[in-house]
Amino acid sequence: MSVWVYSESEGISDEVASAALDISEPTSAGPSVIDIGQVRDGTHSAGDKLVLKGPPSTEPPPQVAAEAIFRAAKELRPASILIGATRNGREVASRLAAKLRVGCLSDAFKVSCDGQNLFAERNVYAGKVVAMVTCPLPSIATVKVGAYPRLGSTPKETREVDVGQIDSQVRVLRREKKVVGSVDLKSARVIVSAGRGVKKREDLAMLADLAKEMQGALGCSRPLSSDLGWLPEEHHIGLTGVTVKPDLYLAVGISGQLQHVAGMKDSKIVAAINTDKDAPIFQASDYGIVGDLYQVIPAIRRAFTSRG
Ligand SMILES: Cc1cc2nc3c(=O)[nH]c(=O)nc-3n(C[C@H](O)[C@H](O)[C@H](O)COP(=O)(O)OP(=O)(O)OC[C@H]3O[C@@H](n4cnc5c(N)ncnc54)[C@H](O)[C@@H]3O)c2cc1C
Repeated sequence: MSVWVYSESEGISDEVASAALDISEPTSAGPSVIDIGQVRDGTHSAGDKLVLKGPPSTEPPPQVAAEAIFRAAKELRPASILIGATRNGREVASRLAAKLRVGCLSDAFKVSCDGQNLFAERNVYAGKVVAMVTCPLPSIATVKVGAYPRLGSTPKETREVDVGQIDSQVRVLRREKKVVGSVDLKSARVIVSAGRGVKKREDLAMLADLAKEMQGALGCSRPLSSDLGWLPEEHHIGLTGVTVKPDLYLAVGISGQLQHVAGMKDSKIVAAINTDKDAPIFQASDYGIVGDLYQVIPAIRRAFTSRG
């Protein structure tokens, strides 16, 4: 079964190619990773490369990417096209599904196939429920970023398809790098996360120090970044923030509303400190300390210091 993979990001293409291996038959050549315009050096996915010649840019806007893939798909008829569920990728997928008149399953964290239908598992109700959705082949799915590991191998073959000139109503005039802070929560192995139980902005320093001592990073619940502005937005974890999977997630003064838990529930170990023994965060925790963070955090730090 032929499965195509597309993302405007090379790294995400490699993740989506892992997902594609779940649905392409073991005997087939593996997924075909689409590059538009010309070959990108960075993608090293299993399977082969499918280079769509015609659009001048290697980073086309979604309308152009969707049209290019549509023209190639009309000719080569892949059974399925998997696309990285970025903002850009979601637009490509929906445009492409409409052009091809096929179904589109969105935000899958796991895909499978029985030869006739594509299946996707996706979170609903902020991750409280997993829904299995399905659609007959041929079909499209967007794959959640970070759900699959990146594949690393050399492409077996590079094929070119000329899709011709594509007019676009959108022109990219310039690109500016998003200014990001220094925190990288996605790759942190330990996250100390602050919630509204922290009374003053200055008190965040003790949590930041603990995070540093544990070689981790400081995260927070949404009110601390979005409402109070105590930390930049990239520290906020949850449904509307970053999704994290550290080895240890220490929730400090966080009640554990489902919008927060949606972003950290896949952490290996969750520990929580909260004065309220009935706080919902304890339901999502492996270890819990019912206590005042202003006593517990200094005690943990003392224990670290005395251990050397
Ligand atoms: C559409 C939508 C999207 C949202 N997205 C997100 C999201 O992505 N991420 C997110 O975090 N939230 C999100 N929220 C907000 C979410 O619903 C909660 O309001 C928020 O997570 C609560 O933050 P909190 O736990 O820090 O604060 P609170 O709910 O106020 O909890 C504070 C906790 O601290 C404890 N506490 C108080 N004093 C101490 C102390 N001295 N020591 C120890 N514990 C103490 C209290 O017992 C309490 O449990 C969203 C809401 C909506 C409507």
